[in-house]
Amino acid sequence: MKILERIKKRLTLFSHSGSTYHCPFCGYNSKDLEVVGHNLPVLIEKHVIGGGRRAAGCYKCNSRDRERLLYAFIIKELNLPKEITVLHIAPEPKLSKILLDHNLKEYICGDLFTESYHYPEHVKNINVLDIPYENEYFDMVICNHVLEHIPDDTKAMKEISRVLKRGGQAILQVPISKNSIQTHEDFTISDPQKRKELFGQFDHVRIYGQDYVTRLENVGFVVERVNISNKYKKFGVNPEEDIFFCKKENLN
Ligand SMILES: [Zn+2]
Repeated sequence: MKILERIKKRLTLFSHSGSTYHCPFCGYNSKDLEVVGHNLPVLIEKHVIGGGRRAAGCYKCNSRDRERLLYAFIIKELNLPKEITVLHIAPEPKLSKILLDHNLKEYICGDLFTESYHYPEHVKNINVLDIPYENEYFDMVICNHVLEHIPDDTKAMKEISRVLKRGGQAILQVPISKNSIQTHEDFTISDPQKRKELFGQFDHVRIYGQDYVTRLENVGFVVERVNISNKYKKFGVNPEEDIFFCKKENLN
């Protein structure tokens, strides 16, 4: 970082320091959060949780509300055991670092590689529609903000379920409309600008409605919708963001 940028960063951290929020990733204590994201009419109209313009960024490490919420849930609430195998699709960098350091029995990170992005060494090229692992291999799958990019999301959900052990758990977050019952999708639309207008991002193929839970249940998941935001206000999480905690039934 250049000297001028470093001074600027220090001033920013000094002027925003306080005791309202605490970032679990970098330890920075602040009085407020950085406003991030972009507001699009469709995100406001559909009251989409997990996107749009909001006060959500850590001034120090740039972590977002939703990543801190996952930290709270996985590390604090689930008290993640070490003797498990975890698959993390499209891994959030800060959460992934914590999980790497957690000394899990096995921690596999996967993402669908694109040429324009440089992936960290521990991330493998994995397509969630065709996960290269045998049935019932993982105890847990973490796959957030991925399904809204995939036309055949049912196939992806089934694939996640396939690689999960019976009794295994999945955390499957998506941007979701608070006021729409039905998911809005249209696969004939491929123009990035049009997708942005209708689905809130150039590469999204839908905006999930409250029927998201039914979609998960239809592939066999038992879905627990959890809201822990009250308990973790300090982490600057979105009070409206629920966690979709899915379990593969243990039929034995
Ligand atoms: Zn931070």
